[in-house]
Amino acid sequence: MANPMKAKLETELQQALQELKKLDERLEQKAEYGPGKGDPAIYDWEFTLALRQQAQQKVGTIRHALQRLADGNYGVCERCGKPIDPERLEIVPLAHLCIECAKSSRG
Ligand SMILES: [Zn+2]
Repeated sequence: MANPMKAKLETELQQALQELKKLDERLEQKAEYGPGKGDPAIYDWEFTLALRQQAQQKVGTIRHALQRLADGNYGVCERCGKPIDPERLEIVPLAHLCIECAKSSRG
């Protein structure tokens, strides 16, 4: 049986990987900027690097969710082991904590 969530996550993963590739291409242009002090391009590069780290993290989160799906643990809270509300998963497909644990982990 095809899992619609798997297709959804795989689409998200493809998008995230494309984003990562685009950012990598932008970062590769660094060499052209030179090490000039106060070069605004350097700040742009730093910004792109930060975006890349976010994209990388997202790829990791999606891969983690796909792994959980493969293991049959998807939709189960990682902390308390209770099923995560399907409505919550609809809004936050990458959620790995139920709403109660997510609330308490936020302190
Ligand atoms: Zn929980």
